Amino acid sequence: MASVNDQLDRPMGVLRLSLTARCNLACPYCLPDGVEPPGLLTLPQRLAVIEAAVALGVTSLRLTGGEPLLHSGLEDLVAAVQPLRRQGLREIALTSNGALLSGERARTLRQAGLDRITLSLDGASGEAVAAMAGLSGGEPAGEALLAKVLAAIEHARAAGFAPERGELKLNAVIQRGRNEDQLLPLADLARQRGIELRLIEFMDVGNRNGWTPEVVVSAAEMVAVIAERWPLLPLGRGAGSTARRWRYCDRDTADSGGTLAVVASITAPFCGDCNRLRVTADGLAYTCLFAAPGSGLDLRPWLTPEAGQADLREALAGLWRQRSDRWSEERLEVWNTAGPPANGPASAEAPRHAEMAYLGG
Ligand code: SAM
Ligand code: SF4
Repeated sequence: MASVNDQLDRPMGVLRLSLTARCNLACPYCLPDGVEPPGLLTLPQRLAVIEAAVALGVTSLRLTGGEPLLHSGLEDLVAAVQPLRRQGLREIALTSNGALLSGERARTLRQAGLDRITLSLDGASGEAVAAMAGLSGGEPAGEALLAKVLAAIEHARAAGFAPERGELKLNAVIQRGRNEDQLLPLADLARQRGIELRLIEFMDVGNRNGWTPEVVVSAAEMVAVIAERWPLLPLGRGAGSTARRWRYCDRDTADSGGTLAVVASITAPFCGDCNRLRVTADGLAYTCLFAAPGSGLDLRPWLTPEAGQADLREALAGLWRQRSDRWSEERLEVWNTAGPPANGPASAEAPRHAEMAYLGG
């Protein structure tokens, strides 16, 4: 079957596959459930989903969660998808909080065929890390987690994930009143280690993270803060990419750590070329990160031993063909005319969204 385009002519290009809804951290902006949803997909079922998505045009597989390193079958899955490279799969990436990335694990993942790792770190001090990761132990617990993530960066590098080839990056969510003072320390930390930092606007994905428009630090604001210390030149946003990139004027683009990226999902959404299909750990397929809870297409009827791969492909193709969602752009259009609402997600009128740790980001 050839690739499919949706109602807005967007092709399917990226599959974000969540391996678990559980996490070893409790970042307040994400707040995962402590328990797994029933009916987790098995390895053969996940492979069937990935194979169908690749047949429909997906070239990039992003493994996520919850925390994907909690999933003991991660390495087996990475190894098992390698033959799909002959069918068009070009890249297999992992997003992780890094706390569990030992040297051994980084090596096995690389050997299994993982191409890229993005590690999440929202602060450069023990205090900030503890607050952003929801750790109860305060500053000492934050220091310990920070040390683990910094070690994870070096484990990944030693295992062959090269930041200069974009194979190792750092994600940071920035929230007003919580960690915007970490912008410069985080940029410094990334520059010193030769890694691209990706600053992410706080999103209202999920219903329990206390999101209000006032807590969003816009990408423009973040760039302005960094550019005042280290002047920046815009590099733009690649088609289908979520991040707008910048080059530090005192560094070369080809330099490791010479670039900064911002993901402006709230203030400058990129729905127009969104090419992402999301499949949760229990097999629900979503096309939009801001989708309503339970609104995904349950793929499990096509994942039984009796079901054929062609039927699964047709189900996914049907979901994609009818897709016309552009939730964040539509919201911004309303804001641009009427202004942001005073209500947060706690209010009765606020839209309900599936939780981030369930969707996988
Ligand atoms: N646990 C892994 C991690 O933290 O990298 C993978 C899953 S996490 C849901 C994927 C990404 O989503 C992380 O970079 C995380 O910081 C980001 N994220 C989670 N909740 C968010 C929110 N409300 N707004 C913006 N980004 C968020
Ligand atoms: Fe866990 Fe990642 Fe959510 Fe933080 S952002 S609670 S690390 S899933």
